[in-house]
Amino acid sequence: MSNSNNWRKTHFINGAWAPADESTFDDYNPFNGEVIARIAAGGRAEADAAVAAAHAAFPEWAAMTPGARQALFLKAAEITERRHDDAVHLMAVEAGTARAFASFQVRLSASLMRQAASWGYLPYGDLLKSDLPGRMAMVARKPLGVVAGFTPWNGAFYLGWRTFLLPMAFGNTVVIKPSEEAPLSAGLLHAEILEEAGFPAGTFNVVTHAPGQAAAVADAFFESRAVRCINFTGSDKTARILGEQAGRSLKRMVLELGGFNPMIVLADADLDEAAKAVNFGAFFHQGQVCMNTRKVYVAREIHDEFLERLTARTQTLKSGDPLTEGVVVGPLINDRAVEQAQGRLQDALDKGARLVLGGTVKGRIFEPTILADVPKDVVATQGCDETFGPLLIIEAFDDPEQALVDAQDTPYGLSAAIMTGNAARGLEMAQRFDTGMDLSRFDAAPLIAFTATKETEHGTETNRRI
Ligand code: NAD
Repeated sequence: MSNSNNWRKTHFINGAWAPADESTFDDYNPFNGEVIARIAAGGRAEADAAVAAAHAAFPEWAAMTPGARQALFLKAAEITERRHDDAVHLMAVEAGTARAFASFQVRLSASLMRQAASWGYLPYGDLLKSDLPGRMAMVARKPLGVVAGFTPWNGAFYLGWRTFLLPMAFGNTVVIKPSEEAPLSAGLLHAEILEEAGFPAGTFNVVTHAPGQAAAVADAFFESRAVRCINFTGSDKTARILGEQAGRSLKRMVLELGGFNPMIVLADADLDEAAKAVNFGAFFHQGQVCMNTRKVYVAREIHDEFLERLTARTQTLKSGDPLTEGVVVGPLINDRAVEQAQGRLQDALDKGARLVLGGTVKGRIFEPTILADVPKDVVATQGCDETFGPLLIIEAFDDPEQALVDAQDTPYGLSAAIMTGNAARGLEMAQRFDTGMDLSRFDAAPLIAFTATKETEHGTETNRRI
C-alpha cells in the first residue's frame, strides 16, 4: 500500500469487501492528527454476518488436508514479505510505530505463518491406557469451530496474526474485531493478504467499529452459539468486562493481557549490556508494549554508574515522526495515553521522585523518561495499573533475594529479566520468577473419543496390531 488514503475501509466478510458503509469513523495518524482513512463503523448486524460466514465455512476448512492448508499459509507468508513496506508505512501512520519495530513485526509475522503452515501435521491425539483389559483408549483433538479474536493496536500487525493464525492452523475459522485505534494494520491489511493468498471465503472475517462501539460487536460474539472461543489480546480492564460476559455465556477465553515487567541488574552484570537491554526494553515502541520493562532493580554498588550509562544511551534516542529516518520514538497512540503518562509522572514528582531524564511532552511525543528515588506510594511504581508509555523507574537494592521478592509484588506476571555475568545464577533466579504467557491451543480433546479395540475370532485386535 503506497497511499493509505485509498485503503479499503469496509468489513471483510465471507471472502468479500462489504459495500461502502455510510457510517464511518476517522482513522488518524497519532503523530500529526491527519485522517489517513475512513473506516466502516460496524455493529451487531455485521458481526452476526461475519460469524455466520465463519460458521458456514468451518466444515470445509476443518476437513481440508494439511498440505492444502499449508500451501495457503506459505503463500500468505510470501505476500506478507512482498508487502513489507506497505505494512511498515501503515503501522507508522496509524499506530506511530517506528520502522525497526514495524519491520520486525512483518518479519516475525511471515515466520509465524511458515510455522503455522506445518501445524496441520502435528499429532492430533494420544493413545491412552485403559483400565478395561485388552482395550486401548484413543483421544482425538478436533477444531472447535468459530474463534473470535480481539486484536490490539500496539503490536498491531504481528499481534493481529498471532490472534488468528493458531486457531486457523488447527482448523478453526475466525472472526476478527481489530482495535478501533488501528483497524487497518490490526486486521484489514491481514484480510487483503489472505484474500490474495486464496483462503476460502468465510474462513477469515473482519468487522470494524467506531471508538466506544466495541460492545455491540463483542455481544454478537458472546451471544452466538457458533462462536466457541474468544481470543483476546488487550488490557486487563477490558478482559474483566469480557470475562464476566464469558462467564454468563459459558464461553471459553484465551487472554493475553498487560504487564508490569521488572528487570534485575545484579552487581556482576556487564553494565553496557545491561544499559542496552534496559534502554531497549523500556523504550521500544515508546513503552506501549505489554512486555516493556517498567522497573529496574539495580545493585546499589553499580547503581550510579549504571544510571549514567543508561542515561547516555537513552539521550541518543531520536523521537518524532516515525516516517522520518532514524526516529525510534514515535507518538503515543492518543491523547488519553499522553494524559495517563503525564499524570503518572506528575504523581511521582509530587511525591518526591527524582527526574533523571525526559519528562517533556510535545504533541503526543512523550520523551523517554527515567525516574530514580521513587517513593513506594507512587502509582507508576506499584504496577497495579499498567502505565503504557516511556516511563521507567530505577530502584537500588542491597539484597538480590529481596529484589526478587519486590519485583514480583505486582498483580502482573507477563515477563521479567535478570542481567548477570553468572548464567547459572541468572537461570536459577529466573526460575523463581512467577511469570509467563498463555500457550493455549485452539482445539479440544474430548476425554475419550472412542475405544479403538475390536474383538475378533483371533482375540483382541489391539494385542496384535498396535
Ligand atoms: P484494550 O483493552 O483497550 O482493547 C483491546 C480490544 O478490546 C480492542 O479491540 C478494543 O476495541 C476492545 N474493547 C475495549 N473495550 C471493550 C468493551 N467494553 N467491550 C468489548 N471490547 C472492548 O487494550 P488496548 O489499549 O487496545 O491494548 C493495549 C493493552 O493490551 C495493554 O494493556 C497491553 O499490555 C495489552 N497487550 C497485551 C499483549 C500480550 O500479548 N500479553 C500484547 C499486546 C497488548
